[in-house]
Amino acid sequence: MAKMKALVCRECGKEYPTKAIHVCEMCFGPLEVKYNYEEIKKTISRKKIQDGPQSIWRYADLLPVEGPTFLGPHAGMTPLVRAKNLGAYLGLDELYIKNDTVNHPTLSFKDRVVAVAITRARELGFETIACASTGNLANSVAAHAAAAGMRAYVFIPGDLEAAKVLGNLIYKPNVVEVEGNYDDVNRLCSEIAGEHAWAFVNINIRPYYAEGSKTLAFETVEQLGWRTPDQVVIPMASGSLLTKIWKGLHEMKALGLVDDVRTKINGAQAEGCSPISTAFKAGRDFFKPVKPKTIAKSLAIGNPADGYYALKATAESKGAMDMVSDDEVVEGIKLLAQTEGIFAETAGGVTIGVLQKLVKQGTIKKIDVTVAYITGNGLKTQEAVSDAVGRPHRIQPSLVSFEQTFKIGKHGRGDV
Ligand SMILES: *Cc1c(COP(=O)(O)O)cnc(C)c1O
Repeated sequence: MAKMKALVCRECGKEYPTKAIHVCEMCFGPLEVKYNYEEIKKTISRKKIQDGPQSIWRYADLLPVEGPTFLGPHAGMTPLVRAKNLGAYLGLDELYIKNDTVNHPTLSFKDRVVAVAITRARELGFETIACASTGNLANSVAAHAAAAGMRAYVFIPGDLEAAKVLGNLIYKPNVVEVEGNYDDVNRLCSEIAGEHAWAFVNINIRPYYAEGSKTLAFETVEQLGWRTPDQVVIPMASGSLLTKIWKGLHEMKALGLVDDVRTKINGAQAEGCSPISTAFKAGRDFFKPVKPKTIAKSLAIGNPADGYYALKATAESKGAMDMVSDDEVVEGIKLLAQTEGIFAETAGGVTIGVLQKLVKQGTIKKIDVTVAYITGNGLKTQEAVSDAVGRPHRIQPSLVSFEQTFKIGKHGRGDV
């Protein structure tokens, strides 16, 4: 029997075949993948996973693909860094950074979801792949499409960072820059998806795409020695990543890979676009759409598709949400770089800023085993920090000039 059972409506539970559909015909609720856990349980084990490939595909039993061929074969299995310096600074005994700044091939967590989406799209017979993106998704779709020999259309908002625009063009997909924000791009793409038989990774094949995010939960647990963390901090754009980390943890429990899930799920946004965190702090289970204005462009979704489910997952886990200002985003990026040697993009600054806030509030405690998800690379958002890092010491090519600049005496020994 197949491991994928059906697509199921998250609202009314109606089931559908595992095709390129994403909304319920009855109630317009979003669809998600339902698995045959009894069947999967018969063969899955910690050992089987550990003997698998060094990529997200070691968890193929829990991913929505049918065939043996995996496009995007190197995504995932990024380092889980024991962040001793940052932990000491924040007052945490056991802090880890899940470092997706080095994900393959485009340096963000999106390589996970796109590897799954493009594999599934191929299985469903699509030849053209497309997406509505805040930046990283487009980069990943463009790169994967090039490697897979598929046609690609990537749609981006008009105000993206230079490296994210270039990081599309280099792979030569059709790059469509829309004069508007992400929510405008997404609305347009929904219309196009209705007219053209293309695989829009985050629209008509979203149910499959979203499942790729679960691998961040699986890897974290495996890398912690099959322990679930006490606290996780997750950046939110549409809120999908957060909901799938929650789902992934519970799948591991359902399959007997871990005994219990006591993980508190914490969501992070930037003040300039915080519809989900704002709703959480106001005690609401619904969010009000906003018009984004923040340097954290990868998270700038004003009308988040999974906002409601992110609120629900966080509440169920007894976690929290918070938001930080753009200045705090920059401080967060610098703090992570200067304590752990990891250069994150703005979404990472959001995560570190909110982590710091939750520790200060006492929401995350000293003894909690905590994982912060760092989902994108700082080299892609240099504009955000270019005014906040100073300049190099400029000298003449002479020993004198060097020693004068650093005020080192003739026989000074410097730091040694
Ligand atoms: C897309 C993205 C996220 C989160 O996306 P969701 O829509 O909430 O799943 C987080 N960080 C970065 C860097 C991203 O590009």
